[in-house]
Amino acid sequence: MFNSLSDRLTATFKNLRGKGRLTEADVDGTVREIRRALLDADVAVPVVREFTAAVKERALAETVSQSLNPGQQVVKIVNEELVTILGGETRRITMAKYGPTVIMLAGLQGAGKTTLAGKLAKHFKAQGHTPLLVACDLQRPNAVKQLQINGERAGVPVYAPHPGVSSEFEEATGDPVVVARNGVSEARQKQFDIVIVDTAGRLGVDTELMKQARDIRDAIKPQEVFFVIDAMIGQDAVNTALAFQEGVEFTGVVLSKLDGDARGGAALSVASVTGKPVMFASTGESLDDFEVFHPDRMASRILDMGDILTLIEQAERSWDKGEAERMAQKFVDREDFTLDDFLAQMQQIKKMGSLKKMLAMMPGAAISRQQLEQFDDRQMDRIEAMIRSMTPHERVAPKIINGSRRARIATGSGVSVSELNQMLERFGEAQKMMKKLAQGGGMPGMPGGAR
Ligand code: GDP
Repeated sequence: MFNSLSDRLTATFKNLRGKGRLTEADVDGTVREIRRALLDADVAVPVVREFTAAVKERALAETVSQSLNPGQQVVKIVNEELVTILGGETRRITMAKYGPTVIMLAGLQGAGKTTLAGKLAKHFKAQGHTPLLVACDLQRPNAVKQLQINGERAGVPVYAPHPGVSSEFEEATGDPVVVARNGVSEARQKQFDIVIVDTAGRLGVDTELMKQARDIRDAIKPQEVFFVIDAMIGQDAVNTALAFQEGVEFTGVVLSKLDGDARGGAALSVASVTGKPVMFASTGESLDDFEVFHPDRMASRILDMGDILTLIEQAERSWDKGEAERMAQKFVDREDFTLDDFLAQMQQIKKMGSLKKMLAMMPGAAISRQQLEQFDDRQMDRIEAMIRSMTPHERVAPKIINGSRRARIATGSGVSVSELNQMLERFGEAQKMMKKLAQGGGMPGMPGGAR
């Protein structure tokens, strides 16, 4: 996500590190580098111009004169200006005062609307809402089916137009405006509190598409219209966004496919050019690859200052409290740390999603981008396969795993014996460390710690 932009900006700031004071030439040089980095990342020209002018003005005023650590001061200014172009404060969804809150999705075909619909449904459901999905993309073959699959994954019902396809609701019409209207009244009658309406897109902006989107909007009067934009489409993003702004007057932006290698800068421009905030980010094909967009956190991620808050939220969302308590109790009871525990811990981590993605959110100091590139999420799967190929006794007492057992386990899990050896060695070290922690009075802050 914004990798090359991030690398370029941090490299620029490195040049400022340790400087006692900045000259006007230093500021000029830095701003020039920032301008190049943004343009290379596909950020729209007017946005770059505005951004660099603001940074320059503030840097000259705030650093040249008095600041103790001018390099840091410049980073702080760039950070604040980035937050501004990303939309300022995090904005929450506007909820309806009476009846269901209606959210309509608009955007080009392939932008990621149908996928997003499933993600939003799952997100709201987890918050205790009762969402209903409405399938109004009657253009793209299979779009209805795809929404139904996503609905099923999210555990959320789908109001779909064709009789015969599995739907809890009866509806037979090919007119998306009618489907949208009926979907919303269905939600009102059955007391769903959020309705997410998926609409059709085209490969390019055309008047018919806009008219349809506008007609749907007028028919259902949504509280929110989200414009979904593929972060990979480059400079076209700005024109597409402006066309949709004029056509349907969206209220918020959702950036999709931020997991790709895209330079991503065009997506950064959208909020600034349209004046509408980015509300969510989509970062993969699974329904969990989804984040509420916080401009301040995204700015610090771009500047490689890490995004610890998002990381903690993801952990909280997926952490199993019972399992954590069981581990803590093992410490108190000073029981051995076994391969079963190792496996359980790994599953907890896996539930949080891709380890690679999580590592990417850590501040730059923790792991280099190069190490990150080499990291392979499948390593965890292989370790899991090895442990699963062991007998219960072997898992509790790995010491008994001799040569012939090693050969059996390696064959069973499809890894080489040397990979298995490495894993057992690493586990041995982890076990030793756990023992030390437990003997040394437990982990700080854990029950029974200071004894
Ligand atoms: P729609 O035409 O706007 O409804 O777009 P879809 O939701 O059908 O998405 C188009 C394609 O992009 C599908 O293959 C999705 O799996 C994929 N996709 C959607 N969102 C993301 C994302 O955030 N990351 C990645 N890598 N792929 C995505």
